[in-house]
Amino acid sequence: MNIQSYLRRKKADKPKFREDRRLCRACWQPKFNCFCHAIEKFDPKMEFVILIHPKESGRRISTGRMSYLSLDNSHIIRGRYFPNHPKIKILLSEPGYKNIILSPRAGATNLTGLPEQEIRKHFPQDKKLRIFILDGTWSNVGKMFRLTPEIQELQRYFFIPDSPSNIRVRKQPNDKCYCTLEAIHHTIELLGASQGFDTTSRVHDNLLKPFNWMVEGQIKRIKDNQNWRSYGHNHTKSLRVDVK
Ligand SMILES: [Zn+2]
Repeated sequence: MNIQSYLRRKKADKPKFREDRRLCRACWQPKFNCFCHAIEKFDPKMEFVILIHPKESGRRISTGRMSYLSLDNSHIIRGRYFPNHPKIKILLSEPGYKNIILSPRAGATNLTGLPEQEIRKHFPQDKKLRIFILDGTWSNVGKMFRLTPEIQELQRYFFIPDSPSNIRVRKQPNDKCYCTLEAIHHTIELLGASQGFDTTSRVHDNLLKPFNWMVEGQIKRIKDNQNWRSYGHNHTKSLRVDVK
């Protein structure tokens, strides 16, 4: 291809490129990456409040927003820290709820292996369960927690993942760290029965559909990009991502 035909083609492709980059209003992803078609919303019989760091909401794989779009009665609040946040104040003052936070910090109760009768004691059915979860990198989540006294006062719970994370395109600190969406999925698995959600229906696996679609798409794009570079374009300075 000579330079003239290259420039003609580039000019012709420009409107399509712009159209592909336009953000979807629901999932905030560019058109080529919009995952709305894979969302199948369901009611997990518990509420999730996702406190999402601004850097996280702009990522190509933003599993906090993906979870929010998949779960009935969920909330998403964007910010770096949330002291005196009006919506959080309203949520925490609402009667009839047991508010907890998913966090492995000091004093947290381990849900993994907790007998069913203990789980029912912790989460009685006369109160609706509302679970706060922080969505961001490990250092961002630490700051969000430290700078928000309201969520420090919530009872803390954590679990030990029983399988490696499936998020293969963003490096987790270790294989046993779940992203926000995987953590929510596992929480429903552990606590669903105590809240009247039938975990044997596997309806909560709906969460994994847009996630898997997105992960596979990203891996394909990374592989295509790496193949392209291997054809004599190795001078391109670019972050190398290990694809499993
Ligand atoms: Zn979309």
